[in-house]
Amino acid sequence: EAKKLGRNQYAFYTQEMQLVANRRSEQKRELRNALLNNEFEIYFQPIMNSKTGKVTKAEALIRWRHPAMGMVSPAEFIPLAEDAGLIHEIGSWVFLECLNQSLKWREQFGPDFQISVNLSPAQFKNTLFFDRWFSLIESACSTDNCLCVEITEGVLLDASEKTAEQLLRFRDAGIEVAIDDFGTGYSSLAYIKRIDADYLKIDRAFIINLSLESTDYPLVEAIIMMAHKLGLKVIAEGVETEAQLRLLNSVGCDYIQGFWYSKPLPQVEFEKWMLERQ
Ligand code: C2E
Ligand code: MG
Ligand code: MG
Ligand code: MG
Repeated sequence: EAKKLGRNQYAFYTQEMQLVANRRSEQKRELRNALLNNEFEIYFQPIMNSKTGKVTKAEALIRWRHPAMGMVSPAEFIPLAEDAGLIHEIGSWVFLECLNQSLKWREQFGPDFQISVNLSPAQFKNTLFFDRWFSLIESACSTDNCLCVEITEGVLLDASEKTAEQLLRFRDAGIEVAIDDFGTGYSSLAYIKRIDADYLKIDRAFIINLSLESTDYPLVEAIIMMAHKLGLKVIAEGVETEAQLRLLNSVGCDYIQGFWYSKPLPQVEFEKWMLERQ
């Protein structure tokens, strides 16, 4: 009896898995056309400087407006794009859009304005695109610090030596480097020793339950102290409440990002938001 049930359950799971697999390959096919069809859009989330109270940065977060399914989250389609080898073209589109946008916003919001762009580990495997970016940046004016690239631990876990070299090229081109989602990986400490970064972004997992009584509080305080000793500035991700904001300010967190200030916004909404704040 148990054996029978086991076999049925197995059949059930494989059927379910088949459905998931079908959906994935269908989505991959659609992803191939999404760039051509202009279905991607970049949203921007403000990042606040704690000391000045000013917004001098924004993180670029890609969205896929699927004709039938509506907005698809990058958490869902970026892994597919990586799998299908499409991340290079999509990532390059994001990077170059952000380069243009940042130069425009520097005229509008001040010469320090910077946009942060997320890079996938897979993007470090085809550096031809990087070469194009660097030569475009070289040929444009006042691009210093106009962009920052956010990388996760996966980037260094994949290919250490070459990646560290590539990151140096970014910094030489006047692009800053941020370590994203810090604290959630397995070798965070070894990792920050191996690359020269400018920012450390504390993962939302440490912020979500942050209170004076929580164990996250001494952890966050220690991460910030350590980062400062290493010459890194700290950005807290996922700040949703005033209480979290106050605690982060009290332990010297340099930048705040999260729904407390604003969700990621389409370009025009972002510009409105910035003008209303001034
Ligand atoms: P991430 O780089 O860690 O981005 C932060 C994520 O947290 C974003 O999710 C943002 O919308 C969300 N977030 C920000 N503040 C809050 C908050 O206060 N509360 C909560 N609950 N969430 C908050 P999103 O936009 O869905 O992006 C998910 C991930 O997809 C990103 O995580 C990043 O790893 C990846 N991603 C997004 N855009 C790109 C891209 O252009 N290229 C690549 N390679 N990856 C991207
Ligand atoms: Mg990020
Ligand atoms: Mg993050
Ligand atoms: Mg994340």
